Amino acid sequence: MNKHVIEDARRCLQCKNPMCSQGCPVHTPIRDVISLLLESKISEAGKLLFSNNPLSLVCSHVCPQENQCEGHCVLGKKGSPVQVSAIERYISDYYLNIYKPIPPKRNKGKIAIIGSGPAGITIAFELSKRDYDITIFEANDQIGGILRYGIPEFRLPKSILDRLMDTLIASGVRIRPNTAIGTNLNVDDLFRDGYKAVFMGTGVWRPSRLNIKGESFGNVHYAIEYLRNPSVYRLGKRVAVIGGGNVAMDVARTAFRHGSEQVAIICNSDETSVTAREIELEYAKIDGAKIIFNKTAVEFTDEGVILADSRISGNKTEGERWLPVKGTESLFPVDSCIIAIGQGPRAVIVSSTTGINVTEKGLVKTDECGRTSRKGVFASGDVVTGAKTVVEAVRVSKRVAEAIDEYVRSLDP
Ligand SMILES: Cc1cc2nc3c(=O)[nH]c(=O)nc-3n(C[C@H](O)[C@H](O)[C@H](O)COP(=O)(O)OP(=O)(O)OC[C@H]3O[C@@H](n4cnc5c(N)ncnc54)[C@H](O)[C@@H]3O)c2cc1C
Ligand code: SF4
Repeated sequence: MNKHVIEDARRCLQCKNPMCSQGCPVHTPIRDVISLLLESKISEAGKLLFSNNPLSLVCSHVCPQENQCEGHCVLGKKGSPVQVSAIERYISDYYLNIYKPIPPKRNKGKIAIIGSGPAGITIAFELSKRDYDITIFEANDQIGGILRYGIPEFRLPKSILDRLMDTLIASGVRIRPNTAIGTNLNVDDLFRDGYKAVFMGTGVWRPSRLNIKGESFGNVHYAIEYLRNPSVYRLGKRVAVIGGGNVAMDVARTAFRHGSEQVAIICNSDETSVTAREIELEYAKIDGAKIIFNKTAVEFTDEGVILADSRISGNKTEGERWLPVKGTESLFPVDSCIIAIGQGPRAVIVSSTTGINVTEKGLVKTDECGRTSRKGVFASGDVVTGAKTVVEAVRVSKRVAEAIDEYVRSLDP
């Protein structure tokens, strides 16, 4: 791997106007990082990456680089782009081992962060640098959000999250695991105890339902719940995954690694409308998954799932929907079915707090700087945008951290 990293770094043209950075949502200074690496200044390269994006190591593993840095590299026009992800991974991995944060003075006031996914972690690093006294409240027993309890180990090693936790603690951040805000403690308690601002980065953890007969049967599960701890499930040899997005691909690949032998991914659209990344689809096929297009699940039974042909209806202006064709139903026999058609937010904080406005889908309404309708409460990440990407959560959260800083300073000029 190291040889490949150096060779690729040497291929970089050091463009005057680097398109790779323009294609990156957080404008990673890739050209300068590569130049420092080639001058044997890997610590400086790592510092540049980490200060721009504290999740650069995570992003190097899970970002859709083909649409971002690598997709924009000029070398990709005629051949293969510089493998930015491999270079970023090598440097960020090195840097996370040697980085010793300067403990903050913690003299600017207390900030509460609810949720330790990419959004919460970014806010914690950004505000601890500015000397705030940060406490993270996390409903789960470990930090990371979807990075820990959704993305499988074979795509993102969990040890990275343990190292990030150590770095957070070394940065003066306190972490309260197993603490779901809105159940026992709520946002009002946090303000009572002197927190000057509250940040919500609680993500989307309520699985979307298909709303069809049989959905409550014992052989039917939801993707986000399955991925949280796959080893406690006994799915059997034959599995049907309903859905054609990245989460469905993760579920299929995980099922193979936990003993299932035949996994079919059932997509209600055709190949061109599938939302999964091409590379995720390819990997699912390599792992042995069979992708079935144009079929809609219409009922679950103890013997499997009843599928019907699906056909597009409506038009582009009014909205297109893939609907089942009556009379084409037949049983697809499997031992277990997993529904992977999306997630929405849980309402626990909003329902226990007054003054936080939400959209029709229950997502938290904010302005472009993450300010919610309640003074002093900010939000970003999936709970605002709906399911997106890690780098998108980092991008917006950097701006939100600035807005929180500005707000707290305005309280005590
Ligand atoms: C299976 C799967 C695979 C994915 N793969 C990729 C990928 O390859 N690349 C990519 O870029 N993106 C991927 N994503 C999307 C990405 O993970 C999310 O966009 C990102 O994690 C959102 O970050 P977040 O901080 O907003 O929320 P989350 O990561 O969801 O974190 C929210 C945190 O808040 C905590 N929380 C919730 N409610 C409370 C409460 N009341 N009190 C305290 N804590 C609470 C949760 O326990 C969780 O830890 C994937 C998503 C899934 C589901
Ligand atoms: S666009 Fe490609 S060649 Fe140009 S600086 Fe970025 S990585 Fe190097």
